[in-house]
Amino acid sequence: MKKTVLVNVSYYVEIDESDKELPQEVKSKLCENREIEIDDKKVYLKWNQSSFLVLNSETMNCGRCVDCGCWVTDREKNDAIFGLDDGAVYENRLLCDECLPHDHKWAF
Ligand SMILES: [Zn+2]
Repeated sequence: MKKTVLVNVSYYVEIDESDKELPQEVKSKLCENREIEIDDKKVYLKWNQSSFLVLNSETMNCGRCVDCGCWVTDREKNDAIFGLDDGAVYENRLLCDECLPHDHKWAF
């Protein structure tokens, strides 16, 4: 018997400010089946779907962590973006789960 695991992986890629979206060639490369090898054992990953979102901190629930600069979404708002690091606003500063105080609800 086998079980199926749904794998979601997030990447960041920088594109030119003048580009509206990720170039098609890059998208195509990210929409392929993959085979990875671990300790001489091959693992086959069947591609299912990919999504691409140009981040905009002025119109979306996202921004850079004030301390470390990683992209983060405020989990205390309803429109958190799946795939970004969890974070929250603490003392008027958007912080990721690694930079929030350790006793904060969203701290890692
Ligand atoms: Zn951080």
